[in-house]
Amino acid sequence: MSNLLLKLTDRIYYLPFSQETDRPNLAYIRGDRYSLMIDAGNSADHANLFLSQLKDLSLPYPDYVAITHWHWDHTFGIHAIAAKSIAGRLTNEQLKVVANWLWDEESMTHRLATGEDIEFCDTCIRKEYPDRKEIKVTTADIIFDHRLNLDLGGVTCEFLHIGGPHSDDSVAIYVPEEQILFLGDSACGDHYHNQGRYDMDKLLHFIDFIKATDFHTCVEGHDTAISKEQLLQYMEEELSNLKENLT
Ligand SMILES: [Zn+2]
Repeated sequence: MSNLLLKLTDRIYYLPFSQETDRPNLAYIRGDRYSLMIDAGNSADHANLFLSQLKDLSLPYPDYVAITHWHWDHTFGIHAIAAKSIAGRLTNEQLKVVANWLWDEESMTHRLATGEDIEFCDTCIRKEYPDRKEIKVTTADIIFDHRLNLDLGGVTCEFLHIGGPHSDDSVAIYVPEEQILFLGDSACGDHYHNQGRYDMDKLLHFIDFIKATDFHTCVEGHDTAISKEQLLQYMEEELSNLKENLT
């Protein structure tokens, strides 16, 4: 089978998302000294698929794995990756909560009733894990508050806690030398508190952040990489839809 990684630049690759069990894009940045994985995948299987693709291309095993936000599909693979994990404080606080969740029928049904979890994730978790005893949720090793810079050697990463319309804990990862921005799901609406819709203030803030950041390509959690112009066009459309619905 040919390699599944897509190459964005000489230093940056990603394993494309897959809709079947809601696996997000997993990305890789190769520095001269260290390399970084972005998001940990929704299971050990997902993380291992990514790691095997790196090995195929003789790319070094990641030294660090950065988490964009707490949602299961981005974090349940942490335990399977022998790298130091990096997360914002809000993400890590929520991971502490999810680490205590039980996965029997009664507990899962109860979380849907209380709104702690949502139908879509519940369905995808059942598909990804035929045996839910395999679910292991762990917290991160390195925690930051607002921003953190990481020098990988010849390329740097800026971890920026931006919050935004998808989840308050969202972190964007900016790679200035390569002009690439990793957004996790931060450009999406909020499925946990707002039925997937956008909050006006958060959307406006997010658009300001995108305009003020100097990049040519962005990688979202569940989409193919697009240009800054394409992202802005999409966000402006969402903004005008939201305004229409309010009037
Ligand atoms: Zn998400």
